[in-house]
Amino acid sequence: MRCAIVHYHELALKGRNRPFFEQRLVRNIRLALTDLGVRQVDPLRGRIRAMLPVEADWNVVAARLRRVFGIVNFSPARSVPLGYAHPNLAPLMAGVGHEGRPLTFKSFRVSAKRADKRFPFTSMDVEREVGAHVKELTGAKVDLTKPELTIHVELLSPQSFYSVRKEPGPGGMPVGVSGTVACLLSGGIDSPVAAARMMRRGCQTVFIHFHGRPFVSRASEEKVREIAELLTQYQFDSRLYLIPFGEIQRQIVLGAPTPLRIVLYRRMMVRIAEELARKEQCWGLVTGDSLGQVASQTPENLTVVEEAAQMPILRPLIGMDKSEITTEAQALGTFETSIEPDQDCCRLFVPPHPSTKTSLDHVRKVERHFDLIALVKQGLEQAELVEFTFPRRR
Ligand code: ATP
Ligand code: MG
Repeated sequence: MRCAIVHYHELALKGRNRPFFEQRLVRNIRLALTDLGVRQVDPLRGRIRAMLPVEADWNVVAARLRRVFGIVNFSPARSVPLGYAHPNLAPLMAGVGHEGRPLTFKSFRVSAKRADKRFPFTSMDVEREVGAHVKELTGAKVDLTKPELTIHVELLSPQSFYSVRKEPGPGGMPVGVSGTVACLLSGGIDSPVAAARMMRRGCQTVFIHFHGRPFVSRASEEKVREIAELLTQYQFDSRLYLIPFGEIQRQIVLGAPTPLRIVLYRRMMVRIAEELARKEQCWGLVTGDSLGQVASQTPENLTVVEEAAQMPILRPLIGMDKSEITTEAQALGTFETSIEPDQDCCRLFVPPHPSTKTSLDHVRKVERHFDLIALVKQGLEQAELVEFTFPRRR
């Protein structure tokens, strides 16, 4: 039988978290492969096995597994009837021989892991026996340090597995083990990367986008929908809240000194986002801020924005350079969409010289002229919810 063998980090799951972590990873792998006809995904002594139907294309399976956080590496493997109760290596040798023969390699090694200690032989015994067999079949030499091919054998009961390939996974922790957070998602390069970083640490991430309608076209909204859809490939289910912000911005413009606009917009966004985040049972807000990148991201302004929220504001990109964030956005697959031109609401009514050193006292005084509760309510009332699933489920 063909299967995928998935390995995860042992370190991350010492102690009581282990079953929870493992169950989540099993569930996420099942979701990632569901439309490929994969029905059976099971934990097997420290690894996870997904049975693959004959029609499943390995390249597609691999592309999906590369996006399941928590996976350290994975292999396309085959099973043979070999366990401690019937310790006959012949089927394993035949299988490995069959798999290895069409490949061209001058050097190889066999790496066996004995997950079931009841086996009557050690992993070294298996490495030696299978290695001798492969050497005889192919004429390749054994090289333990830099082999061209590594044959992996996993000794379990009642079935064992072998594979000639191992691919790195994305690492991190399975989405869902670290609760839910809400990410303020703009159409830019940074916030999708911030969202993905939180997903990689195990957070289910709700998206919240503020758009400039009715003063701008739907372009930024469409972009954000596309980005949310791309990010859903990493968490399988997403919720995106779209909030019309143009009218709220207009009121801020009418009632506040010009240089303070940006910080006031941000504080309003945070207040509205926090209400939605509570409703979604989130424990934190996430932004794509990186220190000093633009006027709203100076130490003073970040501090003033922070004060508008009670929940922690998480800024996973705070210490990153733009070039590092860009590289990450490219690997993530959101970069191309992020750089499409749009009319982000943040460019609406932007002052020519925004304040970079806003004081909290000043902001508080100005905010006294606004009915903040009514503005938050206005944002919440007009919020539109869009849901995404990946892969599409029938
Ligand atoms: P990005 O590339 O994510 O747009 P940026 O470098 O352009 O970030 P800003 O525009 O100052 O910086 O935005 C900082 C953060 O504020 C964003 O990363 C995002 O989390 C949040 N944000 C900004 N605009 C919006 C918006 N229209 N809707 C939701 N969140 C927003
Ligand atoms: Mg932006």
